[in-house]
Parts: sequence; structure tokens; C-alpha cells
Amino acid sequence: MPRKRETLTPVEPETLDLIVRGGRVVTPDGIHAVELGLLEGRIVRVAESITDPTHAELDAAGRYVFPGIVDAHVHFNEPGRAEWEGLAHGSLALAAGGGTCFFDMPLNSEPPVLDAAGLRTKRALAEQLACTDFALWGGLVPGNLDKLAGLRDAGAIGLKAFMSDSGIASFPRVDAKSLYEGMKRAAKLGLLVAVHAEDDALATQFTAAQRAKKKTDAKAWLASRPVEVELAAIRQATEFAGETGCALHIVHVSSPEGVALITEARAQRVDVTAETCSHYLLLNDKDVAKLGAPAKCAPPIRDEKRRLALWDDLRAGQIHTVGSDHSPAPPDLKTSPNFFEIWGGIGGVQHGFQLLLNACATTADRDFPLLAAVLARNVARRFRLDSRKGLLAEGMDADFCLIELGAARKITADDLWTRHKISPYLGRPSRVRVTDTYVRGRPVWADGRVASGAPKGQFLRPITT
Ligand SMILES: [Zn+2]
Repeated sequence: MPRKRETLTPVEPETLDLIVRGGRVVTPDGIHAVELGLLEGRIVRVAESITDPTHAELDAAGRYVFPGIVDAHVHFNEPGRAEWEGLAHGSLALAAGGGTCFFDMPLNSEPPVLDAAGLRTKRALAEQLACTDFALWGGLVPGNLDKLAGLRDAGAIGLKAFMSDSGIASFPRVDAKSLYEGMKRAAKLGLLVAVHAEDDALATQFTAAQRAKKKTDAKAWLASRPVEVELAAIRQATEFAGETGCALHIVHVSSPEGVALITEARAQRVDVTAETCSHYLLLNDKDVAKLGAPAKCAPPIRDEKRRLALWDDLRAGQIHTVGSDHSPAPPDLKTSPNFFEIWGGIGGVQHGFQLLLNACATTADRDFPLLAAVLARNVARRFRLDSRKGLLAEGMDADFCLIELGAARKITADDLWTRHKISPYLGRPSRVRVTDTYVRGRPVWADGRVASGAPKGQFLRPITT
């Protein structure tokens, strides 16, 4: 059962703002036939039947009440590259897919967030433009060690570093020394470090080998970034985390071998967690060959055996969070006949998560609670937002979405709320429909449409104890 607050003295029942009735409420420990009572943006009652007076009711009969998804990994690219996505489009697409909170990466916004001033600039923009709550990553690059304390004080949710070329000149990859020193500093500051774990030297070698063969198709590109590239980087990063005591989050782990390395490191008491992304759980290498540009990302999508093994790891609790790594680009950057030249990044913030729910539609009783953990509770916990976010329980922010399971329907470009209508999921059938999304008790997405008068997003910083 969702936890209940003890009431020591009887109080006059307050008039609630909203009661969500009739839904099946999903928490990591199960699915519960309970009602939620909301007041001033929070859940204040969880009970089988709420009799308090209320200003309004929301009928969730026949639907799941799922915790608002906390997506710790998006690239909305504003300021500087708003034409690639932007905070307004990105957050709306997130909300249309059941998300209530995003953590924006320090790139590909321009300038990237490498100091407190950069973070404040992006924060001010997001406070005007985002329709969901948000947190902001700072960057860890060679030469910005003395900016990390400022980033922490400005409220960065963590630091992101690239161990291979990011493709963005203003966001250079970290060399081993900068990563080590950065993690040492981050540990002192109480900041988590997230890494894009691909070994640059190995990626360069494998890429050169493919180019020498004059192969430029999707298959050649996949071969240019084999699992070994990821494993070498994970080994180094976890070793550094062990030595420095830094909290480490390996983003977009694409292979079960990568998960195994993280599991081993955890057994050695390294403070490391694993994120995978919806596309690694939904697509395989054959899909990449078929779909082309919309399915290009790094590390690349792996074979079917590995995709299925990632689901096993997820169910075994060895993958802690699932993010979208939503990283769109304009159509002209996604059209080269040479797969190596196509800008990488998958636009999955709107449909990736609901397709995970769809993949579990027939095993909802067992798997929806698991998804509530990896899409919301675990994320909030890892990033120290769990006093407010990630769980449908009394005292928490009223962030939730309503999920309907109906007849399968194909996803079309018209469904997309992203700036560019590019997605690897177009044409894919889904039984899941996100009908409503509420952020702090107010609708952002209602009855399958953008809600009018939606509130603006609030900036979130990790809670320090
Ligand atoms: Zn990313």
C-alpha cells in the first residue's frame, strides 16, 4: 500500500482541490485500488475511499494512475539550438507521454552549461518555457574544475562528462586525468557524475577500420562502435568512482555486458548506478538498418539477444533508471546517404516510455510497478528529489498521468508534439494511450490534448541533508 501519514490529532477536514477516483494506482510495490486526494499541488490523502469535501473530481475508472515520469536524460538544446527542439516543445512532448519532470543535459545548448552563469541562464528560460518541472545538468570538461562548486551552488542535479567525442566543439570530451580530478572534486562537493561511456581511442580505431573498407551504411556504423568500446569506458569510470568515492551514473548503458560490469562494481561497494534508455529496450540492430537516421544513436542499438537480456537485467533490478536520451536534430542533419555523417540522437521523449508500458501491457500487474520504479521512484531517489517526486504517496507532489490500455493503434507523425516529426516509433502499434498528465495537481495534458492554462515548470535541485 502507498504509505500513509499518521494523524495524531483529529482535524477538521479541509476541502480538497481534487480527488482522483476509480483508478488503479501504480507504485513500485504494486497496483492499488485507491483514491488520491490533492491539495495545493500535493497528494494529501491516499485511501480506498475519500469522503472529504472536494472542489473537483477526476474519474480515472478503467485507467492506471501512473507516477509522473522523471526523465533524467534529455537534450532540449535551448538556448542556442532551440531550432533542434527547445524547452517548450520538448517539455510538452514529455507531458504528452506521461512525463512530469526532465533533467536537461548541459549540451547541445549553446553555450553549454559549464558554469553557474550558464545554468542560471538556462534555468530562467526553462522557468518561462517548460510546462513540466525540471532540473539541470552541469558539464564536466577539461578546464572547468574551478566552476564545479559554482554549479553545485546554483543547483545542478549532477555533472555530465563525455568520455568520447561529443560532436559539439564547445563540449570537449574529458581525458582520463580531467575525469579523475573532476570526480575527486565532485565527491567533495557531493555532486554525482554521469558519464557517456564510450572509449574514445577504441571508437576511433574501429571507425577507421570501417572507413578503410569504404563502408558507410548503417551496418558499418554499428560495427564501428562494438560493445568493447562501451565496456572499456565503463571499466575506467567505475574504477575512478571506487578510488575517488564519487557517485557515478552510467548513462545509456546499451549492453548486458555493461550492466554486468556495473553490477560487479556495486558488489565492490562502488557508488554506481545504471541508466538504460527506452530505445535499447524497444529496438534492435535490424530495426536500425530498416529505420535509418531516426534510430542512430551512440552507443548504438544492439542485437536482439542483447535487447532481451536488458529486459532481464531490468527485472532483476540491475538497471536502476530508464531515460529517453531524447536528442533530436533538424531534418537536414538526418538525411545523409553516408550513415557516419548523419547526426546521431533519437527523439523518444514522447513515445519511448509509453511503448515500454505497451511492451508490458499483458504483464501489467507484474511489470507496471517495475516501470514505476525505474521511470520515477528510482530516478527521484538517485538524484535526491525523493522527498517530493517519484512516488504516489501522501506528502508527495501530485505528479501523475492516466494510462489507458485500449485497442492497438499505430503512432503517426501527427501524434508528435516535438518540433520535428522524426521518431523511430512512427508506424509502431501501441495499446497505450496517455490521456492526462498532471504536474503538481494541475493538468498539462488533458483528455489527449494540451491543457489550457498549464502551469510553468519549477526548477528542482537535489535536496542536501
Ligand atoms: Zn544524451
